[in-house]
Amino acid sequence: MTNESTTIPTLELNDGRTIPQLGFGVFKVDPAETERIVTDALEAGYRHIDTAAIYGNEEGVGRALAASGIARDELFVTTKLWNDRRGAADTRAALGESLEKLGLSHVDLYLIHWPTPQTVSPVETWETLATLRDEGLTTSIGVSNFDERYLPAILETGVIPAINQIELHPQFQQRAATALAAEHAIAIEAWGPLGQGKVDYAATVIGEIAERIGASWAQVTIAWHLASGRIVFPKSNRRERMDENLAAAGVQLSAADVAAIDALDQGAAGRVASDPAEVN
Ligand code: NAD
Repeated sequence: MTNESTTIPTLELNDGRTIPQLGFGVFKVDPAETERIVTDALEAGYRHIDTAAIYGNEEGVGRALAASGIARDELFVTTKLWNDRRGAADTRAALGESLEKLGLSHVDLYLIHWPTPQTVSPVETWETLATLRDEGLTTSIGVSNFDERYLPAILETGVIPAINQIELHPQFQQRAATALAAEHAIAIEAWGPLGQGKVDYAATVIGEIAERIGASWAQVTIAWHLASGRIVFPKSNRRERMDENLAAAGVQLSAADVAAIDALDQGAAGRVASDPAEVN
């Protein structure tokens, strides 16, 4: 399977910027292997890379980006502020450290990684992200894991995030968080888009659709996210799966197939990873 002909769709964000809707995530990618794996992803055709300070692999991402020779304006790079960095001075320092590791003068998107509700309020930190954006150190700003319990405090500042990156996959569709985001034209990035490999989606209607249309269950799941207007960056260390996942951009689902996958939602019972209330 080659991706030479795969066109990656883009979305326009509420700040007027453009983001590739399908990218590559590097959570749990070993720092020692990151340069090789991100190089493979760039060769496969990915141009949007999602990392975070806590992943410990920003240097490897940066080396792969530099070695690729791909023009900076063709790349979309996201990183995230970890939970032990808060407040104006520390947030500014943390972004500086990430940029240094990535070897970049700016990122395309900077996110507050978790709301950490049991520690300090995120308001000063959020307002600092807006300042860093105005200074050009990040093009867009957003939040991660700010579901309907935590997004209102951000909205009250009057600075509207471009993005909310939340756990979202067929059995955990976060309807309240996505409805609140939609009211403010905040784009949703679905992390764990394939259920982090913890759910047997091939055994559901997704497997039936996949067999009928000649795609894999992962491709059908990615195509469902794209058809639903979300941004995704599935992770794989394996080049053949990178190719497979990227080719999902060419998989068309009928409205009935999208509705059948929508029906897999189990609400809060479908969560497979951490509840933001418990991450501090
Ligand atoms: P994911 O849903 O992308 O699952 C990744 C796993 O799915 C892989 O390890 C592999 O086992 C499997 N997989 C990948 N492609 C496959 C294929 N074609 N066929 C079969 N299995 C396949 O989970 P993820 O990595 O946790 O999420 C994607 C990205 O989201 C991360 O890499 C990271 O960038 C981001 N993320 C963000 C947060 C956050 O708190 N903001 C948390 C977790 C992940």
